[in-house]
Amino acid sequence: MKLGLHISIAGSLMLAVERARKRNCETIQIFAGNPRNWERWDPDKNDAADFRAACTQYGISPVVVHAPYLVNLGTPDEKIYARSKATVANGLRVCDIIGSPYYVVHTGSSVSSTKRDGMLRVGAALAELVAADGSGVAILLENMAGAGSSLGVTFEELAEIIEIAGGGGRLGICFDTCHAFAGGYDLATKTGVEDTLRALDAALGMARVGLIHANDSKYALGTAHDRHAGIGEGYIGNAGFDYLLNHPLLSGKPVVLETPRQTVADDLRNISALRELKNNRLLKTNNTSGFSRNT
Ligand SMILES: [Zn+2]
Ligand SMILES: [Zn+2]
Repeated sequence: MKLGLHISIAGSLMLAVERARKRNCETIQIFAGNPRNWERWDPDKNDAADFRAACTQYGISPVVVHAPYLVNLGTPDEKIYARSKATVANGLRVCDIIGSPYYVVHTGSSVSSTKRDGMLRVGAALAELVAADGSGVAILLENMAGAGSSLGVTFEELAEIIEIAGGGGRLGICFDTCHAFAGGYDLATKTGVEDTLRALDAALGMARVGLIHANDSKYALGTAHDRHAGIGEGYIGNAGFDYLLNHPLLSGKPVVLETPRQTVADDLRNISALRELKNNRLLKTNNTSGFSRNT
């Protein structure tokens, strides 16, 4: 299980590698350009080659790209729908250039339309995007916290969207712990973690889960608020992350933190907390199955 952080590429891709190393990352997530506008970003081919070589040299893998926040493949607004599709198409191209196997997209929202219509639009867009792109990069739909008309809050909804999109092997899931908790999945207790991961496996199959976003939650279970907290500093708590990180169903999955950060110290504290829980187990549980904790 590789542990890492969302890392800024401000300045250059190589600076992102420096930031990742300073924070002891084994995997990273980046934005391909500005996450808050529609501006298209084209990485320089030589910079991308240097970046790939440095990531290989320092064992940073996988590198994951997160789509801009404006992307909404569920919108009934034709203009935003077209822009969203163009942005994802470009994102897949960027992933291919910089050596990223995964492009993470928020499942989106149906806005003023019905949930079913929103899901049909997301599914149609995904099918079209994958068919038009020869890169092999996988699109990971991220589960949403559940506010307003958001789509993909439940695992069943995510499975349905993937089925609408044709169910191909290039469609997967990014499982965000804060969003799941806000969406009503209890991750703070052993039973809750067990039930949630069983439900995830039953609805989608763990092979579809490409990435975990490890974020604690500033708000209580089922409140639909998407507000991340540092590991052990929110309602999921250290015990919840202990069960999650050491659960056999998540074995080998890359984990990326998107926790609040003022300084490097915040990042270091959170990644150390994850590593500590992963390697040293906070709690004495009665799980004696003997699964490996070091994968
Ligand atoms: Zn996200
Ligand atoms: Zn979030």
